[in-house]
Parts: sequence; structure tokens; C-alpha cells
Amino acid sequence: DRRIHEQSKSEFLAMMSHEIRTPMNGVVGMTDILLDHTELNEEQRGYVEIIRKSGDTLLNIINDILDLSKIEAGRTELQEDTFELCKCINESFAVISLRAEQNHLELSSTINHGVPDYIYGDAERLKQVLINLLGNAVKFTSKGSISVKVKLGEQDPSLLVFTVTDTGIGIEPAQLNEIFEPFAQIDSFMARRHEGTGLGLAISRRIIGLMGGEIYAESDGKSGSSFTFTIRLKKTVAPQTQENHLHKRQPVREASILIAEDNHINQLVLTKTLEKMGHTITTVTNGIDAVQAAQSKRFDLILMDLHMPIMNGFDAMKLIKEEHKENSPPIIAVTANALKGDREKCLTEGMDEYISKPIKRDVVQRLLNQFVK
Ligand code: ADP
Repeated sequence: DRRIHEQSKSEFLAMMSHEIRTPMNGVVGMTDILLDHTELNEEQRGYVEIIRKSGDTLLNIINDILDLSKIEAGRTELQEDTFELCKCINESFAVISLRAEQNHLELSSTINHGVPDYIYGDAERLKQVLINLLGNAVKFTSKGSISVKVKLGEQDPSLLVFTVTDTGIGIEPAQLNEIFEPFAQIDSFMARRHEGTGLGLAISRRIIGLMGGEIYAESDGKSGSSFTFTIRLKKTVAPQTQENHLHKRQPVREASILIAEDNHINQLVLTKTLEKMGHTITTVTNGIDAVQAAQSKRFDLILMDLHMPIMNGFDAMKLIKEEHKENSPPIIAVTANALKGDREKCLTEGMDEYISKPIKRDVVQRLLNQFVK
């Protein structure tokens, strides 16, 4: 009974946070446009920046709740592939390096002998855990150092053991377990000095659980903390030397872009954003119109909402691809679903790429670099 109750609670939270993302797209998107492309006096700019910042914070909270409740409802699958461990660690460090520099914190990482260069697993999820631990480490450390160490399990060499250590304020031993509970923050909510949702460690513990490992914290309450987690190595893999084409940069010319989106506000945000970047935009509000637009004009890129009246995005995409064969413009799925696994579904259905709302300018830029030759 309790399990069913928990399950439906998680389902509800997942749906609710998902629904909130769509209108938030309008809020964050329009403030971006106000800030970047309109004349504001200093006072107005100050106010809009507050809206912008609050919107970002709200989106972070919603994303965390969505993530956590999806895992709890059993709707999260790992996206596993071969990846380079060292790269994953470096990318995680990159996220915190600026803040670490500001506090003159020394950053270091050590990967022990015997740890394979390439491992099989969910690199994004591993990064999410590392970024969370490193983010906490900088947040609670005002001087000293932060390190990441990776080694093989002593008893069980099929385990990888990660330890993130800081020299910060530490954690009272009695609270070492409690901090992994959702919304746990050691200072009470009202007296909070540090920003954050209190969901990071709860999410990390569940992700590590999915990866067949454990996570725990150690501290004497004074001289810093250390967080250790394990993940199970699934299979050994040969090193790969594949170049990732996503990272190649090319200058972009002006593009002609079709936007299929039934939500008026989303459509407006996206159109304004892309027009300001110098592109020519055509908009339609359902799948049939998208197919017809693609017949009458050659587009460089099609941004396709999935849920539209009359004909949905998948069906429209299939018709366009069928008609234009290998000359079909790249079609990018755009949804409010920020759910892991959706991307794979879109790609197997035939979409060229998948992006989630709210759409940021640099994401559009990356798509254009990748798809518009
Ligand atoms: P958030 O960081 O968003 O508050 P977390 O779940 O990541 O949420 O962390 C929960 C709480 O655990 C933090 O608010 C803090 O009180 C404590 N904590 C986590 N990491 C550290 C650390 N490295 N040093 C001291 N306290 C920490």
C-alpha cells in the first residue's frame, strides 16, 4: 500500500514538474529577449535580471524534482556507452573551476594504476554525481583544496571507487546519513546561508544505486568532508579514438528555419531568439502545415514540437523524410520533456537530434553549427 502511494506521489511530482517547465520556458525566454534585444533603463534592467535569476533558480528546482521523482517512479533508465573516464572527470571539474579559482582552492585529480581509461556506463549520470559533489565541495570550502581520487575496489576489483575530498566546514558525524534525504540541509531552511535545493545528494544516491554502487560521506565535523561512491564496472572495453563531430566548430551562415509549435508563447520566444541571430523564420502550428511548408520551400533546419494538434511531430517528421529522402532538411525534435531516454526515442524514430525546452541560444547555435552546412 505504502509502495503504491509512494509510486503515485512520484508520478504526480514528475508530471507536475514537467507541466511547469512549459510556462517557465516563456518566462525565461522572454526575459532573455528583454535583456539582450531591447532598450532598458538601468532600473528596468535590474528588475528583469531578478526575474531572470529567479526563473533560472525555479527551473533548477523543477528539474531536480522531476529528476528525483522520475527515478523514484522507476522511470529512469541509464544511457550506457563507452566513454573516457578522464574526460568525464575533467568536464566535471570545468563546471566548478571558476568558483574554485575565486576562492584560491587547489584542485587535483588522481586516477590510480589499474583503472581502465575507458569504461562502459552512463557518462552523463556519472558527471551529474561528480558535479553535485564538486559543487558542494566548493560551496562549503572557503580555503584549501578539493580532490577527486579514483581507484579499483580493494576487495572487489570490479568496483570503481571515487572519493571527493574537501577541506571545508565539514559535517557533524550525526548528520552524515541525513544529508542524503531529500530536502536535507543542515542549516534549517529559514536560516539558510547556502543556495541549493537540498536534492543533490538524494538524487546522487539514487543514481549511484541505479549504477549498482553505494555512496556515503565521512567527516569529523571540523576538518573537511569526503564523499565516496562506487560504481560497478560492467564490461571491459577497448580504447576508442572516435572524434566527436559535435565539438567541431564552423562559422554559420544565415539559415532558413521552420518552427512547428502550437504553443503561442513558445513560438514567439523561439522566433524572436532566432530572428535576432539573423535567421529567417517560418512558423506553423501543426504537423500537416509543417509538411506543406516543407513542400513549398527548402529549409535549412526544422524545429519540430512533438505534441501538436491535427498531426503530431513524429508523423510530420516521417512524412517529410519520406518525401525528401536523403535531401530532407535536418529535423530536430523539441519537447518539454527533459527526460533521459526521450532523446534515444526521438533518434530511433528518425529525428536528427533532440532538444528540450526552454531552448537556450547557445543550444540553437550548436545545432546550426552541426546541421547547417
Ligand atoms: P544542496 O547542496 O542543494 O543543499 P545537497 O543534497 O547536495 O543539497 O546537500 C545537502 C546538504 O548536505 C547541504 O545543504 C549541506 O548542508 C550538506 N553538505 C553537502 N556537501 C557538503 C560538503 N562538502 N561540506 C559540508 N556540508 C555539505
